[in-house]
Amino acid sequence: MAYFAGIDLGGTFIKCGIVDETGTVLVKDKIPTGSTRPYAEIAEDMGKLVLDLIVRAGLDRAQIKAVGIGSPGTIDSQEGVIVYNNNLHWRNVPLGPAVQAIVGLPVFVTNDANAAALGENFAGAAKAYDASILVTLGTGVGGGIVIDRALFEGNRSAGAEIGHTVIRMGGEKCTCGRQGCFEAYASATALIRQTKRAMEKNRDSLLWEVSPTLEAVDGKTAFAAASRGDRIAQKVVERYIDYLAEGLANMANIFRPQAIVLGGGVCAEGEALLAPLRKRMDRLLYGGTDYAPVALIAARLGNDAGLVGAARYAWQKTEPNA
Ligand SMILES: [Zn+2]
Repeated sequence: MAYFAGIDLGGTFIKCGIVDETGTVLVKDKIPTGSTRPYAEIAEDMGKLVLDLIVRAGLDRAQIKAVGIGSPGTIDSQEGVIVYNNNLHWRNVPLGPAVQAIVGLPVFVTNDANAAALGENFAGAAKAYDASILVTLGTGVGGGIVIDRALFEGNRSAGAEIGHTVIRMGGEKCTCGRQGCFEAYASATALIRQTKRAMEKNRDSLLWEVSPTLEAVDGKTAFAAASRGDRIAQKVVERYIDYLAEGLANMANIFRPQAIVLGGGVCAEGEALLAPLRKRMDRLLYGGTDYAPVALIAARLGNDAGLVGAARYAWQKTEPNA
């Protein structure tokens, strides 16, 4: 059995785990990122955490084949360099080589959303499928594309930006500078904005009972009021599902994966979201659903997806046929 270390680098926490060939996490832990510190200190903490976890797993460093890192931002995965990271204010940070110098093992870096997509494909909701796409609905819309069990990263790992495909030309302004992006309609942030707008227009809606102030609106507000029969809330939810379906159908029509895995907080709604979304998306799939159906399922690995996927990434980089 070979073992790998997987690291999920976030703005708040560094999560790390030792993962075996079956995708099982032997041990894991997290430490604060301390994101305002120089990158060298963060890299040192990451390396030390890996070495510590190897010992806690009862393993020897020689049994660990490689280390994978999922990092936010634009990643030059060839060089292990974070080209640009908005949250950590990093530019051209050689994170991979810095961690490698501490752990003395090969280190490979990919984007955190890509890592999560690979994790769900390797050991999570899409385990049964060779081709799957993860779409995470959070502050933004992130995700990754797995084809033939491997990540599709695009030229210089700059692709697979699922959230920044337009579903409405000239539409809502997106954080990326474009207008009408999938993210500007389907993220949790977008759902919150849509909910607030409906509340401002409808003072007698039950939405005001669920959330007495606009500030208190979250991704659950519209679903909660809709389930209590409020017509305004139901319209918000239906519209949101329409937007989601458009974006997902675009992904499905290009890549035709066997499954689309939905992640992020909004997915806590479960079948209240998935069942109508499935119906709506299926109607938009090119050629219908008889020949090559696309399963729509909820993510399963939760917070472990990133580190499991990062470990899998390291495995595939050291053994291309793994
Ligand atoms: Zn955008």
